[in-house]
Amino acid sequence: MQDETKCLHSGYTPENGGPRVMPIYQSTTFRYTSTQEIAAVFDDPTKSHIYSRFTNPTVDVVEKKIADLEHGVAAMCTSSGQMASLMSILNLCQAGDSFISTSAIYGGTVNLFAYTLKKLAIECIFVDVDADEEEIQSKIKPNTKAIFGETLTNPSLQILDIEKFAKVAHKNGLPFIVDNTFATPILCKPIDFGADIVIHSTSKYMDGHALQVGGVIVDGAKFDYTNGKFPEFCEPDESYHGTIYTRDYSFAPYIIKARMQLMRDFGAYPSGHSGFLLNLGLETLAVRMKRYCENAITVAKYLEKHPKIEHVNYPGLENNKYHKLAMKYLPDGQSGVMAVTVKGGKENGIKFMDSLKMASNEVHVADIRTCVLHPASATHRQLTDEQLVACGINPGLVRLSVGLENVDDILNDIEDALKSV
Ligand SMILES: *Cc1c(COP(=O)(O)O)cnc(C)c1O
Repeated sequence: MQDETKCLHSGYTPENGGPRVMPIYQSTTFRYTSTQEIAAVFDDPTKSHIYSRFTNPTVDVVEKKIADLEHGVAAMCTSSGQMASLMSILNLCQAGDSFISTSAIYGGTVNLFAYTLKKLAIECIFVDVDADEEEIQSKIKPNTKAIFGETLTNPSLQILDIEKFAKVAHKNGLPFIVDNTFATPILCKPIDFGADIVIHSTSKYMDGHALQVGGVIVDGAKFDYTNGKFPEFCEPDESYHGTIYTRDYSFAPYIIKARMQLMRDFGAYPSGHSGFLLNLGLETLAVRMKRYCENAITVAKYLEKHPKIEHVNYPGLENNKYHKLAMKYLPDGQSGVMAVTVKGGKENGIKFMDSLKMASNEVHVADIRTCVLHPASATHRQLTDEQLVACGINPGLVRLSVGLENVDDILNDIEDALKSV
């Protein structure tokens, strides 16, 4: 099946006379006719459902669909994108371990990796997304357990050279995790380029409608955890009656271990109703992504030529630093998000945003509706103008997330707003 078809059909096939639309199983628990049957489910929890803290039939359908779209083998939904990032690391690293991450990642992930994981004695070593293989290699230590990167970064729109990082990771016996939130599997499938694990904040394009926060982890299941670095995968798990993940669940040891250890203990699992809403968003994901990209390139080309605009950062533009990588990894489009710098600094950036009538000013991105955010007065508000420039955020920079309105209406709104600048 092609992606458009998978979005609609993967994961759920109604039985004869069954509901056409995937039902919401809003139930904490599941009934069995005998003690022996329940015991069997505990022996192998992949066979059936026990408790909605770590599996649920509605969420299960969504997990199968996302795994299929990403060319993975299995997936596990989480209550947020942050939880997906956290669990993706905790499933590999313990206190005393380290991992590498590119510095071009979402701000919330930076906080999680640099501050919160540090309190758990897990060290994150940052490396520039443009670093060459030698430089990445030089950061790897004997206790390093993973490499992490983001396909298309929020909000700096840098593109990860997935094959480069995958090569260094595999040379060192390490799995490579990719946050594919902005690209979605419609624009890029990191597993095809060597990623081992893919994570998402489903709160963005996958949900698509700004309805609910969520996340997912996908297991590509090609990585060999028996290479000596990951005893937790190939020695008996005392907390799960001696399960050996690489032996008993060799089809997807990473995700089964994440569910049986981390999800069982932390319980950050979406409800059946949440799974239903996410599935609704996923059904139109392929169609929506195509339209976001069409609208965005039209808007980017228009803004690029506008006399009141200093710079447009969108990898689809030919003069963009990441255009070549965009053509390799995201040839069908580079999402609806761009960073626009209005001439005249912070004052004009704010004037432009406050003059928009249709596009809304909100702390969200990848919404179905066009929205904007001014980092210099919101997420990076505490910095001086000099500090803003130092971390790559021009004071006049506006993050523009192009939605699915008719592109002429988006352009008119922007044109009118720029008149006031
Ligand atoms: C938003 C976002 C996250 C965090 O996801 P939440 O669902 O908000 O917890 C992680 N990575 C990227 C790239 C994001 O854009």
